[in-house]
Amino acid sequence: MARKIGSRYTANQILGRGSAGTVWLGEGPEGPVAVKLLREDLASDQELVGRFVQERTALLGLEHPNIVSVRDLVVDGNDLALVMDLVRGTDLRTRLDRERRLAPEAAVAIVADIADGLAAAHAAGVVHRDVKPENVLLDMQGPLGPGGAHPALLTDFGVAKLIDSPRRTRATKIIGTPDYLAPEIVEGLPPRAAVDIYALATVLYELLAGFTPFGGGHPGAVLRRHVTETVVPLPGIPEELWALLVQCLAKAPASRLRASELAARLREQLPLLAGMPPLDVDEPDTEQEDVEPEEAPVAAPARGERVRRGAVPLVPGAKPADSNRDTHTSMRVPAPDELAGGARGTARAPRAAGAPRPGSARHRAATRRRRLTLGAAAVVLVAAVGVGTWAATSGDDSGANSPDTKNSAPASP
Ligand code: ADP
Ligand code: MG
Repeated sequence: MARKIGSRYTANQILGRGSAGTVWLGEGPEGPVAVKLLREDLASDQELVGRFVQERTALLGLEHPNIVSVRDLVVDGNDLALVMDLVRGTDLRTRLDRERRLAPEAAVAIVADIADGLAAAHAAGVVHRDVKPENVLLDMQGPLGPGGAHPALLTDFGVAKLIDSPRRTRATKIIGTPDYLAPEIVEGLPPRAAVDIYALATVLYELLAGFTPFGGGHPGAVLRRHVTETVVPLPGIPEELWALLVQCLAKAPASRLRASELAARLREQLPLLAGMPPLDVDEPDTEQEDVEPEEAPVAAPARGERVRRGAVPLVPGAKPADSNRDTHTSMRVPAPDELAGGARGTARAPRAAGAPRPGSARHRAATRRRRLTLGAAAVVLVAAVGVGTWAATSGDDSGANSPDTKNSAPASP
């Protein structure tokens, strides 16, 4: 069922769906293209229309092998469409769903590619703001790299932002996807290049572990964990790789690596990771936090099943069950007391395969023994986070994280 888009393009077959539209395999004057079409019922939504136009603007003049290029913006009657280079392959979410976890070498090769793409975007003054597996495309027709990984390309600059001159004002709205949001965004600071590094490190953790470090449950709980929790080492992860992850998941943006440095450091590690199988990590339960261990259901959710409650869909008709993975544009910055409340070890701690699952009788007994110790540790953690937060907010906005070229914004359309 081919359909005409403007006078130059036809859309022939659906390739994928995002929150705001459908991506089609299309045909243009110069051959096959990908056409992202805004959903008809959303054409009157100014915010979403803005995202389409923004995506084109952000990408003007950005040419890089690891970024999907936008070729055209079509406005035709009720149709609004972005015409992009076609990537023949799949998105990283689809691959991760299929394989559950990637071998470290392949995971690192993919993330290094995206870090290269981000380095180019940041140098052009663009922050992506929505780095996640859904927005990484794998080019199956490209050459095979380390670990059998195909070239990876970053797409969906729909909420990307030009880095403006240093601003001290606090943002009141959060844009992004909860699992991948840097703590400084949750605290209301303007997004700088380092938020993409945090999100990309989260993606790397997820490729290795099969789950994100701070995800699970209500979006508000996820936001709070980004600010208050620390990551727990993944069983069996090589030390150098873990050190890199920890550095890029640092609460203070200035402590994270820049994109080009991250790409280089990841590539350095590739030879050490050759042939290593995926990590043997069990997925933690997603719903521990609102339930005391005694009340926790003994029957854990089936493997791979994610329980997500109370999430607010971004657009009408989106499935609430998946909305923690959707791009949110209407979250608000939580008040300090909301962030502080309940900072008590709710991060999804990875377990080595075979270790007791939270909520099991074996785990409950151990939990009771450890509770006293944990109480004391939580106090120390809250104090430490307080210091970390102070360090993050008192840093100079115009400092090490901003790309050198932040004031040379790309031309407008
Ligand atoms: P949204 O802004 O709605 O999230 P995306 O740009 O992320 O849309 O695209 C949604 C999905 O469509 C992707 O996850 C991918 O599967 C597919 N897709 C997007 N762009 C392309 C492309 N250039 N080539 C091939 N498939 C694509
Ligand atoms: Mg997307």
